[in-house]
Amino acid sequence: MNKKIIFLDRDGVINMERGDYTFKIDYFVFVDGLFSALALLKNKGFEFIVITNQGGISKGIYTHQDVQQLNNLIKAAFKNHQLKLLDIFYCPHHNDVEKCICRKPDSLLLEKAIAKYNVDIGKSYFVGDSDRDIEAAKKVGVKGIKVNKNSDLNVYINQIVT
Ligand SMILES: [Mg+2]
Repeated sequence: MNKKIIFLDRDGVINMERGDYTFKIDYFVFVDGLFSALALLKNKGFEFIVITNQGGISKGIYTHQDVQQLNNLIKAAFKNHQLKLLDIFYCPHHNDVEKCICRKPDSLLLEKAIAKYNVDIGKSYFVGDSDRDIEAAKKVGVKGIKVNKNSDLNVYINQIVT
């Protein structure tokens, strides 16, 4: 059966956007209300996939290992809250350094996720705080939910759970 997925951006949605690259555990703070909102979505049959631009790798500001360390932290927190996080896809490129087709607003990572996990695009959503998140979602036919940076997702929950 095809899966109903909530795609999540990372910075500004899962963790607080600091206005600078978040690559150390010390900088990483979960957004208030995140896990209670995701629990409501889980109860509606959704599973979760994170799609994030991490162009700081391309720029040499941090490494794949730094990103993976935070990925592990995110995975552990979802597990603690009994939320099914299927995967975290990240684009390590940045337009200033190298061209790619995976950095949002491009949709390659979404396409990979959709194929790998048999995602039901008509029943899935992308929750992001940037126009580029919503643009990427639109390219693959997934409904975008634009949220304010660092805001409590419970505010938006009735756009998804009806
Ligand atoms: Mg963001």
